[in-house]
Amino acid sequence: MIKEYYRPKTVSEAEQLFKRGDNKFVPLGGGSVLSRSKEEDLCVVDLQELGLNQVEVVGHKAILGATVTLQQLIESDSIPIHLKEVIRRSATINIRNQATLGGYVVSTDGRSPLGIALMAMDAVLIWHPNQETQSLGDWFSIRQPRGYWIKGIQFNLNVELAYEQVSRTPMDQPILAVAIARWASGRVRIAIGGFGKSPILVLDGPEDSGLIEAVKNALSDSGDEWASAEYRQAVGEVLVRRMMNKNASDYQG
Ligand SMILES: Cc1cc2nc3c(=O)[nH]c(=O)nc-3n(C[C@H](O)[C@H](O)[C@H](O)COP(=O)(O)OP(=O)(O)OC[C@H]3O[C@@H](n4cnc5c(N)ncnc54)[C@H](O)[C@@H]3O)c2cc1C
Repeated sequence: MIKEYYRPKTVSEAEQLFKRGDNKFVPLGGGSVLSRSKEEDLCVVDLQELGLNQVEVVGHKAILGATVTLQQLIESDSIPIHLKEVIRRSATINIRNQATLGGYVVSTDGRSPLGIALMAMDAVLIWHPNQETQSLGDWFSIRQPRGYWIKGIQFNLNVELAYEQVSRTPMDQPILAVAIARWASGRVRIAIGGFGKSPILVLDGPEDSGLIEAVKNALSDSGDEWASAEYRQAVGEVLVRRMMNKNASDYQG
């Protein structure tokens, strides 16, 4: 339950609150998760006046402020079309208008499409105050903040993204999702989700040989109340083959 709400107008005002340390201060993005929290006595610091709602492109890098909303990303000319499609699948328009990128990343679990895609793209968090960077994979595995709040998220725009998921309905969270990112250098990263607490990195290598086996191995212990591991392995193979065939036909066409 939110006990105290602060909306600092400057970065230094916000820092002062976190430095006090006598309360349980947490950053507030869009509040779609925090406003439902059952945790007692939360003191929230609303980041919305700190100017973190910018989408910037520097060279081949996109730098997205932490309070950019998911809908803002869909409306931005700087975001690649394949990523926009993943964002559309990540939440309904009402949630997209409220939810921020920072809040999304922090509350990502294994079934969050955008979290899975950003992990494949090797996105990096930037923490305030020391500009310390942290790979998303690192964040998902240890969930240890590297500062008071996430200031932004960056990733390379020269990466091609392919994403496929299987779910009960098109807007439902995935039972299985596969994201493949390819760099011009040939580097390939593949992340999967649809179960568990965080997306899983399956492969990061110079080429995509052994992709299907790697996905099936990563799914060998994925059984839960939504699907058995055998089902996910069978569907995972179909998804990866489809994505690889599509990729090959893109090159031919
Ligand atoms: C009704 C509903 C339906 C949903 N459906 C889906 C769905 O289908 N698929 C899906 O993937 N997700 C879904 N979600 C999850 C949704 O996408 C997340 O709730 C949302 O992205 C959280 O963003 P927020 O800005 O509202 O976070 P907040 O509620 O503001 O914060 C969430 C967490 O992030 C922390 N935080 C926020 N900003 C920062 C920052 N800058 N730095 C550090 N920590 C920060 C907060 O302290 C808190 O711990 C749904 C949520 C709701 C409420």
